[in-house]
Amino acid sequence: MKWGLIGASTIASEWMIGAFRAAGGDVVSVLSSDPSRAAEYSKAHSIARGTASLDELLSDPEIEAVYISTTNEKHFPQAIAAIKAGKHVLCEKPLAMTSKDAAEMVRAAKNAGLVFATNHHLRNAGSHLAIKDAVTSGRIGKVLSIRVFHAVYLPPHLQGWRIDNPAAGGGVIPDIVVHDADTVRFHLNEDPTDVVAMSAESGLGTGVEDSCMSIWQMPSGVMVQTHESFTHKYTESGLEIHGTEGSVVARNVMTQRPVGEIVLVTESGRESVGFADHNLYERAVALFSEAVAGQGRPSADGADGVKSLAVAEAVARSARTGQRTKVVYEEI
Ligand code: NDP
Repeated sequence: MKWGLIGASTIASEWMIGAFRAAGGDVVSVLSSDPSRAAEYSKAHSIARGTASLDELLSDPEIEAVYISTTNEKHFPQAIAAIKAGKHVLCEKPLAMTSKDAAEMVRAAKNAGLVFATNHHLRNAGSHLAIKDAVTSGRIGKVLSIRVFHAVYLPPHLQGWRIDNPAAGGGVIPDIVVHDADTVRFHLNEDPTDVVAMSAESGLGTGVEDSCMSIWQMPSGVMVQTHESFTHKYTESGLEIHGTEGSVVARNVMTQRPVGEIVLVTESGRESVGFADHNLYERAVALFSEAVAGQGRPSADGADGVKSLAVAEAVARSARTGQRTKVVYEEI
């Protein structure tokens, strides 16, 4: 598969270019808003072409699919243009600034017969696949609650638009709550209905929240508690799923790397759960490429990205108003 990169981003350089190549594909062009940066980035990453023109990249007949990893406010117009040009789309989260725009992107791809996926990496992790397996095979009985610990320290090289630019989609809610929403939906196979949330500027954020805590209600009655932050230097991430017959306690699994520990606690005692340590992004790209070839579906498709954004919007609304808030899911 020949890829075009829309956005000369950090995530593309740190993870995705390698993942496209590892999955047997190649990256043939990169778009930056700055022509000299396009040239530098393409040279640094051995990409044949660099351009500052979206039209030029999208009219490149060699490109079958694009990966969109610009700042969040650009995803919508760039995805719509890519779909019009007949390209399959792997888009970064949050898919857009609103779930209404995100749904429009997903519908456009569907109507054009193109594959559209959201780059929610966590559901590709060996750890999360093993946790899901333990839960769905009944090891913990009926699920009662889930707790997500996703407070991290935002690395200095990412402390740009995320901490001070609401117009570019900054803030911990668009950045991390969407991932937690996707992860909870993945594990429970259901969509949150209502949320209650509070957010804060706790040291890094200026004009956008850098910390958030929320509680979500699931249709089955399962209660969900989540914590996201950019300001916690020393904590570990984690996920706990508690059931009538046991608990899964996972540490350091809310991360891009294939690491962490999982313990299953039941009446018989504590048991360590093993898991595969493949690269999360390579798995996502491989499933995307198979979907383009007509086999299976991406690990997180467009509908998943619209739903995770709808949850984040409800969390933001609840934090703003202080009210319990319904999650509104757009039709796709
Ligand atoms: P970056 O800030 O690195 O990149 C965003 C844009 O900023 C780029 O498209 C680029 O614009 C510009 N930019 C980046 N570096 C420089 C630089 N050194 N000098 C000048 N301009 C620069 O963002 P991220 O890679 O952190 O995030 C991009 C998207 O990916 C976001 O939507 C984010 O939410 C998502 N993301 C997803 C992750 C996941 O695991 N799914 C993880 C990290 C991010 P231009 O292209 O015009 O040059």
